[in-house]
Amino acid sequence: MRAMILATPRQPLRATEIPAPRPTATQVLVKVAACAVCRTDLHVVDGELPTPKLPLVPGHEIVGTIVEKGNMVERFGIGDRVGIPWLGWTCGECDFCRSGRENLCDRAKFTGYTLDGGYAEFTVADERFCFPIPATYSDIEAAPLLCAGLIGYRCLIRAGAAPHLGIYGFGAAAHIVVQVARFQGREIFAFTRRGDSVAQQFAKSLGAIWAGDSETMPPKPLDAAIIFAPVGSLVPLALKAVAKGGTVVCGGIHMSDLPSFPYDLLWQERTICSVANLTRRDGEEFFKLAPCVPVRTIVQTFPLTGANEALTRLRTGKLQGAAVLVP
Ligand SMILES: [Zn+2]
Ligand SMILES: [Zn+2]
Repeated sequence: MRAMILATPRQPLRATEIPAPRPTATQVLVKVAACAVCRTDLHVVDGELPTPKLPLVPGHEIVGTIVEKGNMVERFGIGDRVGIPWLGWTCGECDFCRSGRENLCDRAKFTGYTLDGGYAEFTVADERFCFPIPATYSDIEAAPLLCAGLIGYRCLIRAGAAPHLGIYGFGAAAHIVVQVARFQGREIFAFTRRGDSVAQQFAKSLGAIWAGDSETMPPKPLDAAIIFAPVGSLVPLALKAVAKGGTVVCGGIHMSDLPSFPYDLLWQERTICSVANLTRRDGEEFFKLAPCVPVRTIVQTFPLTGANEALTRLRTGKLQGAAVLVP
């Protein structure tokens, strides 16, 4: 099968022919129809996350059809369409797993990071971590829901009720979250790189009531803010923009260092927290909610061999919505 392989971090991915993987007892072999490109893939390729599996097939927002299954697979059959997310395996035994926090599992394995992922024609996944995809979505449209959607949804929960919600960084996750948040009756304030009028216009077209540069203050204090951009200096800016008791949620797996800031910005019960990974429960809730909104994803497709180009556009902020690889 054809695949894009990361052999050495900080090098472009290499297109190669490798044997298709074999499913183990609880795994399914999936013919990949679409795999979205996430900022985390960029962090893996850029060597910003420690100890990836090497060589690695990246990609953790996979939609495809089951073509073969292990002898203990019960939830799905041959021909079923499934989504494969970032959370690829958990131990089920550690304190985190046993307290409903499998996203923090001590021994978790992650698709496209510590397990091979979906920048390929075929991939394998543990059936217990796959999701059925609502029928109203095409493969390409559904792919970004698997991480941008799921992690965005978990961030939204961490933000609390928050009727006035700020979003810093208007990429794939934000363009989904804004639709869910509007559906829930919230007002959205979008913050982008300085002078990025294209992204600001994009945010408004999706229902943000205000859009501006991240250094500017919103017209009214926010109840919460979610930071999707991997930029630590946004944390004090977001703290400044939230009202007393407000929460700042950091939604990315990697962020540049946080600058020091006066305690006054945190005082009055403001909170900073991070969101890590997802639980299967997040996925079940989100895939029930998404068709009701209904969440529509805006995608730009690339052939499998266009993976490096897609990553470059993501790195330079030259993407609207989500990039999706179509093998
Ligand atoms: Zn565990
Ligand atoms: Zn992701």
